[in-house]
Amino acid sequence: NNTMKVSDLAMEMGLKAPQLVKVLMKNGVMANMNMDLDFDTIALIVPEFGWEAQNVFKTADAVAEETAFGELNAEAVIRPPVVTVMGHVDHGKTSLLDAIRNADVAAGEAGGITQHIGAYSVKIEDGNLITFLDTPGHEAFTAMRARGANATDIAIIVVAADDGMMPQTQEAVNHAKAAGVPMIVAVNKMDKPGANPDRIKQQLTELEVVPEEWGGNTIFCEVSALKKTGIKEMLEQVKLLAEVAELKANPKRSGTGIVIEAKMEKGKGPVATLLVKDGTVEVGQYIVAGTMKGRVRSLTNDKGERIQSVGPGLPAEVLGLEAVPAAGDKFDIVKDEDTANEVSTLRKEQAEKAATTPNAKMSLEDIFAKV
Ligand code: GDP
Ligand code: MG
Repeated sequence: NNTMKVSDLAMEMGLKAPQLVKVLMKNGVMANMNMDLDFDTIALIVPEFGWEAQNVFKTADAVAEETAFGELNAEAVIRPPVVTVMGHVDHGKTSLLDAIRNADVAAGEAGGITQHIGAYSVKIEDGNLITFLDTPGHEAFTAMRARGANATDIAIIVVAADDGMMPQTQEAVNHAKAAGVPMIVAVNKMDKPGANPDRIKQQLTELEVVPEEWGGNTIFCEVSALKKTGIKEMLEQVKLLAEVAELKANPKRSGTGIVIEAKMEKGKGPVATLLVKDGTVEVGQYIVAGTMKGRVRSLTNDKGERIQSVGPGLPAEVLGLEAVPAAGDKFDIVKDEDTANEVSTLRKEQAEKAATTPNAKMSLEDIFAKV
């Protein structure tokens, strides 16, 4: 923890807390004795008492952030939204992801075959891009959130029109709500004779997911992943929701984001799919993904094309890491090899500490992997 209580800091400097509070107030910090001060505030205030602050609690993320480079204060621009598709088994998540991929107007232009890299972007008719995480299901979503990684901006909850709300539908809604991520409900399988979208609207209203036409604020889109109907309209709604959310990023700073997938591949070594959340990643730069460091040897987009750089809101497959990071790991581009070593070492120490903390959460898989 990188903060310190006002009363503790006062004691460290041999002062009475009110003396410190007074100086904090003078500097515009409305402090009280129990308030937690962050390092920057402490560093600003202690010279007034003849001290100098040294941050011994440096976290890997803080170092990565401090050493970020490029035009850090450049104006932020709108970035593509990142969307996750969730819902009950067999309600059509995979089919919907396929149908969306087919709706990509750029796919025809490039004539390329889309690669499976764990995420893909589609260009809609007005030229805007939308990125989809290609691993359906809330497992991936939950796993990432457990690591503190929030890769998703918008959730599409798929419900089969002939089947209705199911336990995993509820779970998906709960996950999206817990993450504070706006939702769109895709009422799928509208081509089926038993399709009953009104029943789904009723059921979801009970979960306080109320359709706009009933006075709520959730968009329900009627689609058929099989017949590919309603897909364009749904993508249009995703775009509108993204506009409201004003998702912005600065493409001129060093890249940072999340590992979506990673594996070892014969002849290639560690291969990771990165989703850039801010900044730009370029070939040749030093990178730390989770605890693993490396240098970006190549970047490949979701169309299988070699690219020199990848900007915010977009995925790319990267080669050049020393080992395989975990899905959900944060990654950062850093300015040089020394910084890469420092960030990677700090992350390794943090990971070790977390692993030896008795109440650290451990999944069954982790336990099975260790024995
Ligand atoms: P997932 O488990 O949620 O990924 O569901 P899938 O995409 O694998 O779909 C489950 C089944 O439903 C498959 O047999 C699909 O062909 C079928 N299916 C998916 N979407 C539709 C649709 O819009 N209409 C119809 N009739 N069947 C669909
Ligand atoms: Mg599936």
